[in-house]
Amino acid sequence: MGVKPSLEQARELDKNDTLSSFRQEFIIPRKLPQPCIYFTGNSLGLQPKQTKAYLETELEAWADYGVEGHFEGPNPWFHFHKLFPQKITPLLGAKEDEVVIMNTLTANLHFLLVSFYRPQGRRYKILTEAGNFPSDYYALETQVKFHGYEFEDAVVEISPREGEDHLRTEDILNSIEDLGETLALVMMSGVNYYTGQRFDMESITKAAHEQGAIAGFDLAHAIGNVPMELHEWGVDFAAWCSYKYLNSGPGGPGGLFVHEKHASDSQLPRFGGWWGHNESERFKMKKGFIPMKGAPGWQLSNAQVLGMAALLASLDVFEKAGFGNLIEKSEKMVSFLLELLHEVNKEVSNNSFKILTPENFEDRGCQFSLVIERGGKLVFEELSKNGVVADWREPDVIRVAPVPLYNTFEDLYSFSDLLKKALQDV
Ligand SMILES: *Cc1c(COP(=O)(O)O)cnc(C)c1O
Repeated sequence: MGVKPSLEQARELDKNDTLSSFRQEFIIPRKLPQPCIYFTGNSLGLQPKQTKAYLETELEAWADYGVEGHFEGPNPWFHFHKLFPQKITPLLGAKEDEVVIMNTLTANLHFLLVSFYRPQGRRYKILTEAGNFPSDYYALETQVKFHGYEFEDAVVEISPREGEDHLRTEDILNSIEDLGETLALVMMSGVNYYTGQRFDMESITKAAHEQGAIAGFDLAHAIGNVPMELHEWGVDFAAWCSYKYLNSGPGGPGGLFVHEKHASDSQLPRFGGWWGHNESERFKMKKGFIPMKGAPGWQLSNAQVLGMAALLASLDVFEKAGFGNLIEKSEKMVSFLLELLHEVNKEVSNNSFKILTPENFEDRGCQFSLVIERGGKLVFEELSKNGVVADWREPDVIRVAPVPLYNTFEDLYSFSDLLKKALQDV
């Protein structure tokens, strides 16, 4: 742009933002008298104002109908999980039969690994990114142990090149090729929680399949944040949580995706439960598990209605806003914040920071991970005191995630201004 990004410009961008009214649909926490600059939607999304009403609907159905609420009331609970596929598939690029809302993320990863990590002979390795999330490591570690392997041998971690912060797609693809017929599974994040890097799920899936391996992704930081085409790409399976970008509230329900090509394979090993059993005879209390076709066949238990009602409230906001529109706004916010941050780095001479997240929008979502050169913790505390809710990661990283549903361009400007002052002062 050539001109310094300004507060006026931020306000102009907000004025022209067709999604600006969606901020009103959320409760923005207040730390100071004014609402805070909430940049941790990547950790716990904000509460939609309608969530309470959605919960009350189910509480009232429970009060009015008791057990009969399974078949009576506005959203009979027997069918409750069926409200979701239509609303969540636009975020995933999936078919309705390929998704189901259930359990929590790590639990779903385990259930999917039971089906999709089936080491045989020389083919037992799992490729993942170095610096994956601890829970994912623990899942992989205990799964390979369960099959009689050691983590160090069975799990291959790929790191960025010396002196680089991100993984290059070519290096991931080469590692897959090198592992060849020893590779059972590629299990990576869609978006890495720490660096904010988005991986090329399509190429990775294709490369895994070329080696006869399975490709699965953890979408905790991808869902609701970046566009995906899981079906098109041929991704075998995926799992996610919904309390981050999907705003379902603490401990909200997870979900999973299983590609259609596996839908009718009733031979796939799995850990079954009655809700995954053929619906037409679910209440006949017969022995002999017959899985439902598609992702619903991975269900175990009846729907967690209260948590899922909160998720429904948020998905209805997504539907109203339009996911494509949100991604467009996200790209604009990212580019404006990049401009602002480059300006801050130019203006502050005695301290600086590096942006760990790739700049190219194809390689990222809305999150920014900033590595602070000096006094990172103090900078973080100073921001915090001034009403910025961000996230601190030892030893020197501040993560901020401006979310297009409820953050404003003015938030971005105010943040950059506060960051500049904090950097100068430490
Ligand atoms: C947030 C997150 C989790 C959390 O797992 P839960 O089972 O929902 O507690 C796991 N993996 C990744 C990559 C995450 O970002």
